[in-house]
Amino acid sequence: MPIQETKHIWRNGKMIPWAEATTHVLTHGLHYGTGVFEGMRAYDTKHKGVCVFRNREHVERLIYSARVYRIAIDFSVEELMKACRDIVRENDLSSAYIRPLAYLGYGEMGPASQNVDSVLDIAAFPWGAYLGDDGMKNGVDVAISSWRRMAPGTVPAGVKAAGNYLSSRLISMEAKDRGFAEGIGLAHDGTLSEGAGENMFIVRNGKIYTPPAASSILSGITRDTVIVLAGKLGFEIIEQALPRELLYGADEIFMTGTAAEVTPVRSVDKLTINDPSFPITRQIQNAFFGIFNGETEDEWGWLDPVA
Ligand code: PMP
Repeated sequence: MPIQETKHIWRNGKMIPWAEATTHVLTHGLHYGTGVFEGMRAYDTKHKGVCVFRNREHVERLIYSARVYRIAIDFSVEELMKACRDIVRENDLSSAYIRPLAYLGYGEMGPASQNVDSVLDIAAFPWGAYLGDDGMKNGVDVAISSWRRMAPGTVPAGVKAAGNYLSSRLISMEAKDRGFAEGIGLAHDGTLSEGAGENMFIVRNGKIYTPPAASSILSGITRDTVIVLAGKLGFEIIEQALPRELLYGADEIFMTGTAAEVTPVRSVDKLTINDPSFPITRQIQNAFFGIFNGETEDEWGWLDPVA
């Protein structure tokens, strides 16, 4: 999907024209993957106008990811939350995908360089359903990748670093080459990890299962949202290491992510889920989208109005 240009990019505290948000070829992050980022959404809500969803949690995760790689961020959580609201408003967007990116810039070569200034950019642009409107409604067909996710103790899967998306690229490209909508990665031990850009949930006998942080997942903010909403709906959520074959005997499966939102899975490796009417997934989907149409009360303060 081509990027839809907007007017401004927020860079290190200033709004600059979209076309001027360029960087040098010797940027550290381009060579060594020393960038961390976020993917957030702003929704045009029915009752509170345009709002950034879970702004604080995304900004906090960005700062955490940057800390692990010693990428300096010279802004507070509050300043960055404001910047995320500003970039949506300044670009006249009613709904948007927001992409903050902090990376080591130009100045020195070598992976452990200390004398490289960091750059913090925030872009915002329109972006529809990541796995398609049809996928959102009818479910997507996915396949387990031959590529494993990075093992614990290699590079940290639990922070949102640019380099981690080399794994996502391999997993997703392989699946797409084979005609599937998305690829699923197994952890180093063969248990379920996550989709290339989504967390996984499996419904079986009325209970909802999801892999834990130690299964090489990014602990998604949508995942957390779903855990809270499912609890409110009275479902038991079990976080545990999950064997691959559970996917093949699942009543329902769904994937979550800022881009993918709550997308049902129709089949895994061409084996169809037991209940293609997705009864529990639909309840979770409705509760999730209800936050934006006002049907789910936002008792957690997850909506941050940009106005
Ligand atoms: N796992 C990976 C690898 C991802 O890229 C994403 C998307 N950021 C997720 C899970 C879901 O995270 P979130 O719900 O915070 O967007």
